[in-house]
Amino acid sequence: MTPPATTRFAPSPTGFLHLGHVVSGLYSRIMAGEGGRFLIRIEDIDTTRCTPELTAALREDLEWLGLSSDEPVRRQSRHLPEYQVVLKTLRERGLLYPCFCTRREIAEAATQTAPDGSLVYPGMCRHGPVHAGREPGWRLDMARALEVLQGVPGWHEIGHGRVAGKANAFGDIVLARRDTGVSYHLCVTHDDALEGVTTVTRGRDLYEATSVQRVLQDLMGWPEPTYAHHALILDSEGHKLSKRDGAEGVRVLRQGGWRARQVREHPLVRQALEASLPTGAYSGG
Ligand code: GLU
Repeated sequence: MTPPATTRFAPSPTGFLHLGHVVSGLYSRIMAGEGGRFLIRIEDIDTTRCTPELTAALREDLEWLGLSSDEPVRRQSRHLPEYQVVLKTLRERGLLYPCFCTRREIAEAATQTAPDGSLVYPGMCRHGPVHAGREPGWRLDMARALEVLQGVPGWHEIGHGRVAGKANAFGDIVLARRDTGVSYHLCVTHDDALEGVTTVTRGRDLYEATSVQRVLQDLMGWPEPTYAHHALILDSEGHKLSKRDGAEGVRVLRQGGWRARQVREHPLVRQALEASLPTGAYSGG
């Protein structure tokens, strides 16, 4: 038996619902346990990639699947001013600095890769702007943040115990993108705290992101959730199932005559869930 928790499934509607989402949604619901709370959140801050049509389609497919939120679904794009308050707080504490570099300039100057595969910012704007005049993004001064926290925060991963964080290997991450004014790490940690999420469930592809998110939680004095990262559905070559792989789209299966229960019990879904949950916790969708 899983003890009651508040979990959330937080898809970004950049494409149609696919079997990878089904795994994440079911995993999150099962991890909430009997008497727990399961929440759905739409992470649609990137308004160029997350269209209203894709959001509507995602919600419709979730409903068809029988995955419903225990509380009203939160849509991040409707709460942008709340994230600006967090940025203001961090800025006033001297933990952020404006960065005017383009993606290309960073790519040309970067020499290191962070644990999540992103490039470590080489620090051109850390001691003052190099290309002022452009619209800036805002970066976290990671060395300073870790000094304030007096160490690198780790986390509790269900089934593995305490895990050491690697925030120092990420460098100065972007907290406010130049185009959207916010970022994934900022919004996700704010919302997990606001919604009282006690167990963050998501795919192993976001495992490394936890190091960065733990820093933000500690800086803001938000509670530390526990984490549970589930196995991913991999294609025959061992790559993560991508939204572009049409055959695994829930819509495609649905149009092909599949029932919701059959999709929830799809062999690829079953395999990923059985690899991730305690024995016996998955007994079909
Ligand atoms: N919105 C993110 C995604 O779809 C997931 C966020 C999370 O679970 O932390 O990849």
